[in-house]
Amino acid sequence: MSKPVCFSTKAYSTPNATSQLTATTIERREPSDHDVQIAIQYCGVCHSDLHYARNEWGFTQYPAVPGHEIVGRVTAVADGVTKFKVGDTVGVGCLVDSCRTCPNCQSGLEQYCDTGMVMTYGGMEQQLDRPTLGGYAQSIVVTEDFVLRMPANLDLAAAAPLLCAGITTYSPLRHWKVGPGQKVGIVGLGGLGHMGVKFARAFGAHVVLFTTSPSKVEDAKRLGAHEVVISTDEAQMAAQAGTFDLILDAVSATHDLNAYLNLLKRDGNLVLVGAPEKPLPVAAFPLLFRRRSLSGSLIGGLPETQEMLDFCGEHNITCDIEMIRMDQINDAYERMLKSDVKYRFVIDMATLA
Ligand code: NAP
Ligand code: ZN
Ligand code: ZN
Repeated sequence: MSKPVCFSTKAYSTPNATSQLTATTIERREPSDHDVQIAIQYCGVCHSDLHYARNEWGFTQYPAVPGHEIVGRVTAVADGVTKFKVGDTVGVGCLVDSCRTCPNCQSGLEQYCDTGMVMTYGGMEQQLDRPTLGGYAQSIVVTEDFVLRMPANLDLAAAAPLLCAGITTYSPLRHWKVGPGQKVGIVGLGGLGHMGVKFARAFGAHVVLFTTSPSKVEDAKRLGAHEVVISTDEAQMAAQAGTFDLILDAVSATHDLNAYLNLLKRDGNLVLVGAPEKPLPVAAFPLLFRRRSLSGSLIGGLPETQEMLDFCGEHNITCDIEMIRMDQINDAYERMLKSDVKYRFVIDMATLA
């Protein structure tokens, strides 16, 4: 396969795990086959961007361009494109391709592709035979099956984080059929957690938010939590023991899982979506007693991501965001590490001009 023609686009990248992100120019492939070219208007800042930029998961390929909560306008389509036209408002999440033939891809669960999904950053771009580069950039080129349609009624900047924080919390809550009559816990009021609260509430559950930040109690209630528990307060934790059907854990750092397992009912399920750098110790006894489960969930497939976006359009659900300029990204990372985000940073990509 000959290397496709490329064009240049401005971006922000880091050359190693310890440097700051700075302005650069990267190459994108010119659209061919089923490719859609998108001018990026906004890109959300996920904690995964920080884990990846700093090689906390050990597989970062440098130079790294993070960003997988991408929204923008279609500026060009290749001849094979049938689903989109120039001018459409679209989104791209954590995936830009997959094998499409394995049982998981065939079931619309491309995030669990047997031969490896192509992640928006840190994957392998076959066309250019190099690591994929994410959405901290002015444009991106993605094959149409991995491009989402954005609901017209939603504020585009506030909808951008739905592409990761939204689908990552929507998918497990749907998979385990969260609804009326259930008591559901959400751990950590960050980008993922605040969407977990909104979705669990929208699905009809009784929602309890666990936070280490007493300053977030009022916000959690405004966002939809029926109760808020300060997780560092042993008496407050003990009062919740054995009462939860499901707890969704969206914490980015080391913390005690056993404390949350003890809050589950018989057959209750602790679902991890947070992806801390280091392994988390699990004791056997909290799992044995009451036949509890510990599970995980990774983003969501393309059909479910579109379903989630449409659900948000119908129910007017968006993320609570703080807009930043591209050159504020390094400060934003430091604030994210202090759990000081209300509740997702979104980069205004016009500031990269
Ligand atoms: P975030 O906005 O930084 O939120 C994380 C929250 O965790 C913080 O706001 C804080 O909430 C809590 N927290 C932080 N440090 C803590 C500590 N030491 N002990 C207890 N709680 C702590 O991050 P995010 O973007 O929502 O991402 C959360 C995690 O999910 C990251 O690890 C990310 O990589 C991962 N992720 C996974 C998927 C997936 O597919 N499974 C997708 C996207 C992201 P409080 O202040 O309320 O305590
Ligand atoms: Zn993410
Ligand atoms: Zn596959």
